[in-house]
Amino acid sequence: MQRYICKTCGVQYGESTEVPVHCLICEEERQYVAPTGQTWTTLDEMKKESFRNEINLEEAGLYSVKTVPEFAIGQTAYLVQNDGFNLLWDCITFLDEKTINEINRLGGVDAIALSHPHYYSTQVEWAETFDAPIYIHEDDREWVTRKSDYIVFWSGESLELHNGLTIHRLGGHFKGGAVLEWKAGYDGKGILLSGDIIQVVADREWVSFMYSYPNLIPLPASKVKEMAAATAGFKFERLYNAFHRVVKENANERVQKSAERYVKALEGRLFDT
Ligand SMILES: [Zn+2]
Ligand SMILES: [Zn+2]
Repeated sequence: MQRYICKTCGVQYGESTEVPVHCLICEEERQYVAPTGQTWTTLDEMKKESFRNEINLEEAGLYSVKTVPEFAIGQTAYLVQNDGFNLLWDCITFLDEKTINEINRLGGVDAIALSHPHYYSTQVEWAETFDAPIYIHEDDREWVTRKSDYIVFWSGESLELHNGLTIHRLGGHFKGGAVLEWKAGYDGKGILLSGDIIQVVADREWVSFMYSYPNLIPLPASKVKEMAAATAGFKFERLYNAFHRVVKENANERVQKSAERYVKALEGRLFDT
């Protein structure tokens, strides 16, 4: 029996005797199957290869966790230290002894929260290793490829996991798409960790919102307005996405301006064609 991992999205499946033929996540219009076809690996195979995780202090109480060389989608996970409570925000596929020891030195993991299904990766391995619950919005329940009693499906629009550390459902990219508001981050000015739900673009001054990034499918103007209106109520001046891109200052204002530009473009008011 093996637990196979899709090499394109990095998501692990439950036990099977045979290599899967289909990936639920990749065969869906927000992801893709590579032109060379679907390929699979396992965590044991990955440990025999040259993968390792880099854990770096980004700022007080915030560590990034990323696999090198890059694997699958190539996202960065973050360990947030909030007054003695450690939250792993989003997840990555590769997990080895060295990573476990390093994270335990930082106080371990008290809970794991996911922005959306593209980062489910080997979340159950992480949950079992650190004995930590996984918080996933119930609207994304259908995308869980490896079931576990560690998964807690939360409901509604917001859930405070610890003092001033709250997950909010914004939807958009996925119906249950969530962001993390960390009020104590950035010396109390607040940090928003946004996964792919709010995406930081090349100059780190603007953000964007998409239904599919690889397939370039936008979201409707009404949804983007709704997401921006909800975000305006969160306390943050800095924003981290899932690709190690950071809006360093005035991030809440930048999200509002970016949403306005996006809506203008969709409505044909930004340029002449
Ligand atoms: Zn996949
Ligand atoms: Zn995504």
